[in-house]
Amino acid sequence: MRSWNFSEKPLLVFWETTKACLLACRHCRAEAITRPLPNELNDEESRRVVEQVHEFGKPYPIIIFTGGDMLMKRNIYDLVGYAHELGIPTAAAPSVTELLTRETLLELKRRGVSMVSFSLDGMRETHDSIRGVAGTWDATMKAIRTAAEIGLAVQVNTCVMRLNVKELPEVFAAIKRAGASVWEVFYLIKVGKGVGMEELSSAECEEVANFLYDAAMYGLRVRTVEAPFFRRVVKQRGDGASPPNSGLYSLLVNRLRQLCGEPEREPDAPITPTRDGYGILFIGHDGSITPGGFLPIPRGNTRTTTLTKTYRGDRLFQLLKNPDNFKGRCGVCEFREFCGGSRARAYAAYQDPLEEDPACPYKPATSG
Ligand code: SF4
Repeated sequence: MRSWNFSEKPLLVFWETTKACLLACRHCRAEAITRPLPNELNDEESRRVVEQVHEFGKPYPIIIFTGGDMLMKRNIYDLVGYAHELGIPTAAAPSVTELLTRETLLELKRRGVSMVSFSLDGMRETHDSIRGVAGTWDATMKAIRTAAEIGLAVQVNTCVMRLNVKELPEVFAAIKRAGASVWEVFYLIKVGKGVGMEELSSAECEEVANFLYDAAMYGLRVRTVEAPFFRRVVKQRGDGASPPNSGLYSLLVNRLRQLCGEPEREPDAPITPTRDGYGILFIGHDGSITPGGFLPIPRGNTRTTTLTKTYRGDRLFQLLKNPDNFKGRCGVCEFREFCGGSRARAYAAYQDPLEEDPACPYKPATSG
């Protein structure tokens, strides 16, 4: 990963291929709907997006086909297959609805997809209430098992918020049993429908990050989204720092040990220094280009410009690539190079993507 120049090309290109989705999740960034919007990219424009990713050159970024529900995108298999033909690695993030079957997963695999991700935001009752459709938890667990059985790597995405934080150990144990290989924990950002959900306090965010460090010792890779300070915690704990001596952390870790036993190995928690606009690029259903899915500041459109031009030349992208441009604690923090704070949360909180990340409680040595 060290050879990857994030200033020149993203590692991950998230493509919201459509906003259409049969689910109605309470925290959805995309504010999903049941039919494609009229301004969605057409077939030709969609193929052009794939070609624009190809223009970044080898090694190609990974395209994550997402939505809405990517399975509701017209000609999705052709698009995924086209990316594969061009040598671009692909991953798929389908919604769990009646459209997702063993055959669907097999077809994605045939078209070159190597990893699928599913959302699981709690145990049965919590997850189904968040998704708005009863039975989704059971269907998701089945989808994880099926995808693992047919040889797809499976990532599970969990959005952590006050409503579900105490269920994290159970969720982890359940997805480990079902065959997931990566757990990606997203710290809620109040955008889209997420504005109605309750975030954790910064102290709780820190406790959860420490719990995730412990969870990474049980054979699954653990990553976070919009919580790059997890990488600071990984570094600090790896250097021998003690975890917080507090209620939430103890509750989570004790439950984890009850469910999964003693830790098995060294933590698998990579500290690849990506953040919105630096290693990450997001394309909306209408071709709008933003630095991340939770940072809704369009900087161009694939209909009128290209991904390479925007990623390399746009002023905001340039500002986001250099953590010295960040304000408050994030601008002086000794961990800013591989953390830098969530730019999306800074924007949601202060309407300034360069501000400090309010979810991180860390006081940098140089902040006085
Ligand atoms: S202060 Fe900012 S850069 Fe430092 S660890 Fe916290 S979020 Fe990261």
